Amino acid sequence: MEDNYKQRGLRDKLVRKLRLKGITDEAVLSAIGKVPRHAFFDNALLSHAYEDKAFPIGEGQTISQPYTVAFQSEKLSVKPGEKILEVGTGSGYQAAILLEMGAKVYTIEYNRKLYETTKDFLPMLGYRPYFFYGDGSKGLPAKAPFNKIIVTAGAPVVPQALLEQLNDNGILIIPVGDRETQKMTKLTKKGKKILKEEYNQFAFVPLLGESGWAHSK
Ligand code: SAM
Repeated sequence: MEDNYKQRGLRDKLVRKLRLKGITDEAVLSAIGKVPRHAFFDNALLSHAYEDKAFPIGEGQTISQPYTVAFQSEKLSVKPGEKILEVGTGSGYQAAILLEMGAKVYTIEYNRKLYETTKDFLPMLGYRPYFFYGDGSKGLPAKAPFNKIIVTAGAPVVPQALLEQLNDNGILIIPVGDRETQKMTKLTKKGKKILKEEYNQFAFVPLLGESGWAHSK
């Protein structure tokens, strides 16, 4: 995979744009500056790789907008060595960012074809999360607990299973709302209590599965 001065220049420009939009976590910005986002794009869309926009990745799914990836990653306050569950592997871009930040990443995808494609593709870039196929709205009980959980699809409710699979002081970041727009929601586990913080609206594809939306709606 080629990563030339032009692509590095476009990445630096994207990082500057994210700073202007309010992202301050240097570890997040450094990771965005390193992961070759153009490698996740089909040739036809290559020229758009460093725009701050979401793009289609096939199977009706999207690679999230860089600002969204940066926002969710910042809210997770990732520390090297932390064990993080990502629900919604998609293209693998978000997983690559978390790996660049030094996390140990478990990622689960519900779409079989995307799971297969990304499981084969991401290690070719040197990014090796643990890949799982299945309904991430139920979490990943066999590998729990996690320090942090990030959901990258829009949920109708906060799945109880995800809260149960967090460590004490663990953080869950999840977009919650209707099928079109969702409020970014951060939940921090403090003993038996859950601290809830809400941020701006985002627009994600729907979270499917048991605690997600029905396929047919
Ligand atoms: N994180 C991805 C990236 O960096 O490219 C973007 C994810 S895309 C916006 C949402 C993904 O969530 C889709 O790939 C979709 O198939 C997946 N998804 C939806 N419901 C799911 C579920 N219950 N469990 C796991 N993945 C799910």
